Amino acid sequence: MVSFELSEEQQKLVAKAKEFADGNIRPVARQYDLSCEFPWPVVQKAYDEGIINGAIPKQYGGAGHSSFDGCLVSEELGAACSGIGICIDANNLALTPLLVGGSDDLKKRVFGHLIENRGLAAFCLTEPEAGSDAGAVQTTAVRKGDVYVINGHKRFITNGKQAMYHTVFCNTDPGRGARGMSAIVVPADAPGVKIGRELPKMGQRASCPVEIDYNEVEVPVSNVIGKENQGFLIAMKTFNRTRSGVASAAVGMAREALDVAKKWALNRKQFGQPIASFQAIGFMFAEMATQVTAARFLVWNAAILTDQEKEVGTYSAMAKYFATDVAMKVATDCVQIMGGEGYSQDNIVEKIMRDAKLSQIYEGTNQVQRLVIAKNTLK
Ligand SMILES: Cc1cc2nc3c(=O)[nH]c(=O)nc-3n(C[C@H](O)[C@H](O)[C@H](O)COP(=O)(O)OP(=O)(O)OC[C@H]3O[C@@H](n4cnc5c(N)ncnc54)[C@H](O)[C@@H]3O)c2cc1C
Repeated sequence: MVSFELSEEQQKLVAKAKEFADGNIRPVARQYDLSCEFPWPVVQKAYDEGIINGAIPKQYGGAGHSSFDGCLVSEELGAACSGIGICIDANNLALTPLLVGGSDDLKKRVFGHLIENRGLAAFCLTEPEAGSDAGAVQTTAVRKGDVYVINGHKRFITNGKQAMYHTVFCNTDPGRGARGMSAIVVPADAPGVKIGRELPKMGQRASCPVEIDYNEVEVPVSNVIGKENQGFLIAMKTFNRTRSGVASAAVGMAREALDVAKKWALNRKQFGQPIASFQAIGFMFAEMATQVTAARFLVWNAAILTDQEKEVGTYSAMAKYFATDVAMKVATDCVQIMGGEGYSQDNIVEKIMRDAKLSQIYEGTNQVQRLVIAKNTLK
């Protein structure tokens, strides 16, 4: 029997995440969007409340959420402000490579130190020549005795400036392309790590991705996640697990825009009646409500398959592209429904529209998700 009812415990988790978002994120969402400052107080509060590090098992000091529970939390954070939400959720992306491939020793060492210090981590894959083509990284890690020496340049790294640890994808066997990649944990304070320019951007502006240079950075060989040259596989397994998180935040954005526009449409009168009574507007709500529901079920499907440790790549790609496309479409339609007020910064839907755009791009563009689905469907 399949049930779409949340358990009592899950309902409590949603209530807790909503309370956190309403109390700590929603009131400052616009402020951080305008200032582009990093929301440290909110991140620290997320530590106080056990909202961060959901993917990390309790035995390592994390919140120990299942993938499904993580999605319930991400939807609430995304609804309140996806920019602040990603500052909190980026730890899950950066630390999942250790969960899928790291030794117990490495997990204990990194998670223990990070969580004790209430710190952040960054996932460092993208480079100027390696965007959608993630296997094309040019950052090198050369083994010299007991250390790797890392040289290279990363860009668009979320929380890169704030992180204590970087999960860096490097080339350890240059002749082998994606098969010669390794994932290596780099402490941010290692000599030779240099944080570069912040990316000025359209949406999710509380989060400030940066460029990072690695110049002759030495890390112990024991910092390799899994085995040498398994990095590409680890990155793909990571995305399979984390894409439902991006998708659930997108469901949150769409849900929020819909709620705001609904209140508006029921109150705003033109031609002597609420605009909600015009069929053209009503049909837009019908489509948006259907799409948000469908997106949430695709997210839940991917999260449940992840928790059951089933093959989830196709389904997490479906959830990611569908939910983020829905967020973009719904936010755009909600701006339209609210007319000039929707376009104004007096209302939150214009921010959601800018925020939603990014979710179609990071953690693999939606074209890349379609490539994954097409490849697996046409096998
Ligand atoms: C704000 C922000 C935060 C980010 N955070 C991180 C982070 O924390 N860590 C990290 O490692 N990266 C991060 N990224 C990088 C992000 O994952 C990449 O931007 C994304 O994967 C796309 O790469 P690209 O920007 O180089 O675009 P490109 O790969 O150059 O793609 C450009 C366009 O071409 C399309 N395209 C490319 N190849 C194909 C193809 N084969 N078929 C069809 N279309 C194709 C793409 O879909 C896209 O529309 C972040 C990016 C942004 C903007």
